[in-house]
Amino acid sequence: MASENMDERWGFETRAIHAGQKPDPRTGAITVPVYQTTTYEQDAVGEDRGYEYSRTGNPTRDALELSIAALEGAEFGRAFASGMAAEDTILRLLNPGDHIVMGNDAYGGTFRLISKVLTRMGVTWSAADFSRKENIENCMTEQTRIIWTETPSNPLLSVVDIQMLSELAHSSGALCVVDNTFATPYLQQPLAHGADFVVHSTTKYLGGHSDVVGGFIATNSSELDQEIAFLQNAIGAVPAPWDCYLLLRGIKTLPVRMDRHCENAESIVNFLLDHPKVAGVLYPGLREHPTYEIAQKQMKKYGGMVSFTVKGGAEAARQIAAKTNVFTLAESLGAVESLIEVPAAMTHLSAEGSPLEVDGALIRLSVGIETVDDLIEDLAHALS
Ligand SMILES: *Cc1c(COP(=O)(O)O)cnc(C)c1O
Repeated sequence: MASENMDERWGFETRAIHAGQKPDPRTGAITVPVYQTTTYEQDAVGEDRGYEYSRTGNPTRDALELSIAALEGAEFGRAFASGMAAEDTILRLLNPGDHIVMGNDAYGGTFRLISKVLTRMGVTWSAADFSRKENIENCMTEQTRIIWTETPSNPLLSVVDIQMLSELAHSSGALCVVDNTFATPYLQQPLAHGADFVVHSTTKYLGGHSDVVGGFIATNSSELDQEIAFLQNAIGAVPAPWDCYLLLRGIKTLPVRMDRHCENAESIVNFLLDHPKVAGVLYPGLREHPTYEIAQKQMKKYGGMVSFTVKGGAEAARQIAAKTNVFTLAESLGAVESLIEVPAAMTHLSAEGSPLEVDGALIRLSVGIETVDDLIEDLAHALS
């Protein structure tokens, strides 16, 4: 859906609650109804009222598309059944022989999709450490059509300079795609820094309650949006109306949740920094973090994800992750409840063959919005 201009003057919090969600014109219902319908009556043959079939268009999905597009400051947005479905749809813009450059710390599923599925269609790829521009330049070829980044990245939470990457992509006629799942549009809006596409796993912070899987693509280019709309309908990896409703419900509190995620994460970082069993802490907001200056430039705050290494190696990490009570041992991230995991043995397995070696002693936290003292006490107990 194309965004409504009136939403642009609203602040972020107002947009999170109202963008795309006027009260229902027929009944006045204050929340967007779940249009659980596959088809729509036509007034005459070929004369519909804007909807004909729910793969192509559904009013609940339209509301979600307007909502997230407004948050990203995007003209256009399209919703998908999962983050991977959104990623796959962007990647179908490519033709055999086209080349992708991605960060060597790309999400495992992204790495798997590109290296094991897209390659079957004759697409080629390179992965580079995106912390230095030369590394990316060295990978680019005449055929490079997409530079794909995630910032902050998983699980090392490195931040990539989106403006630098966009300029690099555009200088050689490529598109810059930014996976904004970890930051959310509340903390960072990649299109404003020159990116062509923003992609999301809305499963994470946007949904925020561990109860819905979804994906999203936003862009400011009407030409690119038209191609995505065509692919969205042609491939059909669309979200169900109920899932769109759950996402709309979650998004209303995104700004207040993110503030608390960030606040709790900062307290936990300070606790970990002082702990004798902790070898190192990774957080984009740490002055010592190698990408701190870029984070300061393009992020409002630094997010709810914290990674740290423990003394005692992989075995110690496994034991600690299994010993928490408030933090649940689980994959995924971005919801109200705190989660703990060991990437090398869990989430990073889908990135098998990835150039990034993840230290077995690394623990990743998705810091939730519980009482921070309970979270710290839980970690203190697990580390003791
Ligand atoms: C989870 C995730 C994805 C994949 O999204 P799904 O909704 O699980 O398909 C993509 N990118 C990042 C950064 C993720 O965390």
